[in-house]
Amino acid sequence: MTTYTDEQLHKALSHYFGYDTFRHTQLPIIKNVLSGNDTLAIMPTGGGKSICYQLPAMLLPGIAIVVSPLIALMKDQVDALIANGIRAAFLNSSQSQEEQQRVMREAQSGELKLLYIAPERIPANSSVFFDFLRRIGPALFAIDEAHCISSWGHDFRPEYLKLAVLKEQFPSVPVIALTASADKVTQQDIADKLALRTPKLFLSSFNRPNIHYYILPKKNALGHIIDYIKQHKSDSGIIYALSRASTEEIATTLKLQGVNAAAYHAGMDSAERSRVQEAFQRDEYNVVVATIAFGMGIDKSNVRFVIHYDVSKNIEGYYQETGRAGRDGLKSDAILFYSPGDIMKLRKFAQIDDNPQQSAISLRKLQLMQDYCENDGCRRQYLMQYFGEQFPAYCGSCDYCQSSLEEKDATEDAQKLLSAIARTGERYGANYIIDFLRGSAAEKIQTAHRDLKTWGVGKNLKKEEWQWMMQQLLNGGYIKRSTDEYAGLNLTDKAWKILRGEARLKLVMKKPVREQPVLQEPDYDIRLFEALKELRAAMATSENVPAYAIVADNAIVELATYLPVNFEELKHISGFGDYKVSRYGAAFISAIGRYMAEYKVPSKMHFKKPKPVKKERTEKPAPGSSMDMSLQLFNEGASIEEIAEQRRLSVGTIEGHLAAFIASGDLSITKVLPFDKLRAILEMVETTGQYTAAKPIKDLLGDDYTYGEIRMVLEHYKRTKR
Ligand code: ADP
Ligand code: MG
Ligand code: ZN
Repeated sequence: MTTYTDEQLHKALSHYFGYDTFRHTQLPIIKNVLSGNDTLAIMPTGGGKSICYQLPAMLLPGIAIVVSPLIALMKDQVDALIANGIRAAFLNSSQSQEEQQRVMREAQSGELKLLYIAPERIPANSSVFFDFLRRIGPALFAIDEAHCISSWGHDFRPEYLKLAVLKEQFPSVPVIALTASADKVTQQDIADKLALRTPKLFLSSFNRPNIHYYILPKKNALGHIIDYIKQHKSDSGIIYALSRASTEEIATTLKLQGVNAAAYHAGMDSAERSRVQEAFQRDEYNVVVATIAFGMGIDKSNVRFVIHYDVSKNIEGYYQETGRAGRDGLKSDAILFYSPGDIMKLRKFAQIDDNPQQSAISLRKLQLMQDYCENDGCRRQYLMQYFGEQFPAYCGSCDYCQSSLEEKDATEDAQKLLSAIARTGERYGANYIIDFLRGSAAEKIQTAHRDLKTWGVGKNLKKEEWQWMMQQLLNGGYIKRSTDEYAGLNLTDKAWKILRGEARLKLVMKKPVREQPVLQEPDYDIRLFEALKELRAAMATSENVPAYAIVADNAIVELATYLPVNFEELKHISGFGDYKVSRYGAAFISAIGRYMAEYKVPSKMHFKKPKPVKKERTEKPAPGSSMDMSLQLFNEGASIEEIAEQRRLSVGTIEGHLAAFIASGDLSITKVLPFDKLRAILEMVETTGQYTAAKPIKDLLGDDYTYGEIRMVLEHYKRTKR
């Protein structure tokens, strides 16, 4: 057996296929194959599995037999090889007897390097066929799309089961099984069914960093698709839909919108299908709307988007389909329109009669597809973990990361957390540390610990936020769980660097979500509505004004919806300013009260969302004004004292100037005050509840703090907290 150096293999790659470098795990796979061992190669779609047997085929004496499930695909592969000057042929049921005879003769004469065979061409027990194989002397068996042999996989083909006999009949010929299915059970099943001998497993990363994943609720999906395509006019893309009818419908709609689109599905005759596929490949169609049958054989590198109009049956299929985008490595989008109703529909199809085992597998895979769509976390992380790879919680290029997470400098908060661990002697678990940080007064917090400076410094974050950070610090190797009986958290060297301020730390944090209690809006009470309108009409008549001048209709609707019972509550009804409350309030309140008593209905004021209050917009001082000059000097780096001196004004006046810009949001408080002072003042504001007056806070804080500083913090507080 000849052994090849890496250099020789690179040369061969470039000689036969014109590529400069091996991708993924191609090189080690090829070396393993050439050394005569069995191989299980797992590589994502588009990863370059074919080279893994095609190159060895060129270097081994004899002929490589390639088993491949799809007839159309086979022809493309063989054509591509012939285009590279490589002698290859295929045997399948699409050929005439004569053609098959001719190919077999070619194979026997030793002219061919690769022979592709459809699995149905391998009879279960045919000595004729094995004699044929023996005569041509196979150098290698390559089983492409090997997951088809496993009923655990997502594309089981019973005829693949016959391949089990290959190893029996040709024990010394190496076998390479290739698939993009990373399902562990399927992998094991492939190795078992093919009777591979101590196969070496090669797993390359499934991550496709240039594909961005988006899942959108399936509402007006077609409208979204049209918008998207219009924004990506010159791009190629595939839209997958489950039924033939919907591919036709979507394609027609797109055409009406001026999009160069075509449908593709199994109901079309094969000539028409090839025509569409070839036209798409030549960029004559921008968009093909297809059932899953499309794309198997195509090798189009500039597919910029893959849209799933319907949810896929399983992650494997979804990933294979999205994987057809961006083979050229450029940014591409994978967009899925998700509705739980679609899962319900697929659930019915997943039930196969007379095959409860297969049904259970399909349902389980469908469930995981649903989990993916509904998962509260990074899409890419979910996909990678599905394929058995570790992946961080943040990819930055999926809809989840972009809308719910952000990568932020978290050094300061991490320091709090790490020092809490250090100060408490590295003996406590996560829950204790977090409660301690948040200043819990619970009994379990040791009295001595309550005197530590770190006790309660972590009130700025919620418990879940600290847990989230803790998890990342554990994953990132900043802290680890000790193995002793306490199972406390220990700091690593990396953590000490952060604590000493020698390194900064970026963490992924959840974006703050504005909490909006979801309450069922009550309907308005029609009888009360009528009664109140009558009351209003009477008021209008007696005052000789139109009814709407008393209060508008929507105010009456609100009254009849929420039933306010006193003046305070009435103020929360739209249209009731202080004047109207005092003038008409009593009449309305008593009418409502009578109604409530008579019909025994309660007030529903607790459902009422607060009236939108106009935010006090503090006017920004005019450019060129005295205040503006102070700001400019400050922005140029002068201290408050220096500005005061230069402008012959008091320090307090300059602080007042800057306070105005803090109020308008043009100046950040953190630029003006050191963090310690800011925190101290803010804490005092919070604990005393003094949000407007500086004096009580000044009295408590003493001489280390000026009125000006306190006023600036109050402005900041008003702007941000209320
Ligand atoms: P798979 O079977 O894993 O889906 P293919 O073998 O069909 O992938 O290869 C996908 C594409 O990548 C093809 O266009 C192929 O020519 C190309 N390719 C494979 N290996 C290399 C390589 N080492 N360098 C450049 N292109 C490659
Ligand atoms: Mg392939
Ligand atoms: Zn992500």
